[in-house]
Amino acid sequence: MSEQHYDWVIVGSGFGGSVSAHRLTQKGYKVLVIEKGRRFEPKDFPKTNWDLKRWMWNPAMGLKGIFKMSFLKHMTVLHGVGVGGGSLVYANTLPTPKSAFFKAKSWGHLADWETELAPHYATAKRMLGANPNPMMTTGDHVLKEIAKDIGREDKFHPTEVAVFFGEPNKKVPDPFFDGEGPDRVGCNFCGACMTGCRVGAKNTLDKNYLYLAEKCGAEVRPETEVTAIRPLDDGGYGIETKPTFGKEEASRFTADRVVLAGGVMGTMPLLLQMKEDPAGLPELSDRVGDFVRSNSEALFGVISPDKDVNFSKGVAITSILHTDEHSHIEPVRYGEGSGFFRTLLSVHAPGPTIISRIWGGMLAFMRKPGRWLRALFVKDLAKQSQVLLYMRTIEGTLRMKLGREWRTGYRRGLVTEVDDPSQAPSAFMEEATELAERFADKVNGVPTTLLTETLLGVPSTAHILGGACMGDSAETGVINARHEVFNYPGLYVIDGSAISANPGVNPSLTITTLAERAMSLIPSKQTAPSINPSKKGTVPFTEGLRVG
Ligand SMILES: Cc1cc2nc3c(=O)[nH]c(=O)nc-3n(C[C@H](O)[C@H](O)[C@H](O)COP(=O)(O)OP(=O)(O)OC[C@H]3O[C@@H](n4cnc5c(N)ncnc54)[C@H](O)[C@@H]3O)c2cc1C
Ligand code: SF4
Repeated sequence: MSEQHYDWVIVGSGFGGSVSAHRLTQKGYKVLVIEKGRRFEPKDFPKTNWDLKRWMWNPAMGLKGIFKMSFLKHMTVLHGVGVGGGSLVYANTLPTPKSAFFKAKSWGHLADWETELAPHYATAKRMLGANPNPMMTTGDHVLKEIAKDIGREDKFHPTEVAVFFGEPNKKVPDPFFDGEGPDRVGCNFCGACMTGCRVGAKNTLDKNYLYLAEKCGAEVRPETEVTAIRPLDDGGYGIETKPTFGKEEASRFTADRVVLAGGVMGTMPLLLQMKEDPAGLPELSDRVGDFVRSNSEALFGVISPDKDVNFSKGVAITSILHTDEHSHIEPVRYGEGSGFFRTLLSVHAPGPTIISRIWGGMLAFMRKPGRWLRALFVKDLAKQSQVLLYMRTIEGTLRMKLGREWRTGYRRGLVTEVDDPSQAPSAFMEEATELAERFADKVNGVPTTLLTETLLGVPSTAHILGGACMGDSAETGVINARHEVFNYPGLYVIDGSAISANPGVNPSLTITTLAERAMSLIPSKQTAPSINPSKKGTVPFTEGLRVG
């Protein structure tokens, strides 16, 4: 087994991983980023999401794309895989959370987050290239009408998105980083951001943070999965990996320090496995896997039988309507021809039991059978449907742990549990249903939802968060306010798992911002203490640095 040493190894190349890679190389460190997914050029992305091999991720089934659906007992999780992590598949939208998030009971006592994070939000927005969406689409006009109807017209505004709006389809030298970044192409509003931008207009991480990190010397090793992290006797950590595809030999790396940035669906299984391993990380806090949350989302697809309508033009998310101080709704789209979700759609029918939902669905169908039949057989689902994404800041948490059940194929894998079912994330929210029905009425359409919601009552989320939350000790959290893991100096969690309250909005900007802050607390290589052979792990960077 080959072995190489780095100052820092970063597990995963999403938002937390890419920010860390860029800032650490800038500080003079030798950095390796390990990513289990593939590296993509614009031409590698699928033309529509029917090209499952290029869109979806499930290597066992030969699917080597960017989008994974994980079916857990209490939540269906949508997440991204590849060099650039979730940025490849995400909808580019970068809202800032409202004040309540920064003051939440779960982490508000650890720092004055709102004040401290403000400059890092500004940096993160600049680095990700956030700017207002310039084009009002069909769906935005409908949402604006709804805003007027409910007396909140002033709470409707265009999204801030990570997209380059130059001249459509025209290539220009780097417009973001004084020429240090890659050439870019202007957005043509094709709506295909969530199947991967084939134009080169979407500001994915491989075009900003990760690009600059590699330019500065960071190594990125794609198609390699980290399987274990163990402290070394003489300080630092050993990192074991296996190739994602094929049967090549496993590799081992050593590092003074490690950043876990695999996203919740990558970091959680790794931490839970290492806690069970006596030579791994057995002294991890018992809180590992606790307080996993979503944005309390509700996802709808409103289908219009009107052949002339086209909801698929524009960037993936174009506007936001804040329906009260805790909630908002966004119109979302796929590009023309991307109708895969037709296979997973059902009538939207909220209800406490499967019988009540099936009955509710039948009643909804019988009330407008003609409209439903025309809607279910539309030619191009992406053109004739508007996805609506509703989110709330209300808390609903669950616990992740390792276990066996039919969803894991009775092998040991990630499972979820809840202490109090009434506190679990819910698939049905009255206000969300009402807004979807209003939208449907305005476009003579019908509100649908994912089959897993109607049949099983399981909510879906593209914003899975938490599981390695902050605390003031190992009794209350997995990491401290500097993102360093309790009892394991030099091991950090910097990704969605570290988000310790519900931001109530799309979270990537906040993950990026927290990563910027965490990295600002790391000294540059010249001034950093070297690893201490007498201690497990490494010397923490605490002395002389401000926390919180
Ligand atoms: C369809 C969709 C649309 C979305 N739209 C938005 C949006 O508009 N705005 C927004 O803010 N958010 C959006 N999100 C959510 C956003 O993508 C995530 O919140 C964000 O990517 C999480 O960042 P992260 O740093 O936690 O890790 P991720 O970005 O998830 O990256 C983790 C990376 O680590 C890799 N990895 C995991 N385990 C290992 C391992 N053991 N070894 C090696 N590599 C590993 C993964 O392959 C992945 O590439 C969307 C998500 C989806 C699925
Ligand atoms: S709308 Fe099309 S061109 Fe613009 S960023 Fe999205 S995928 Fe790229």
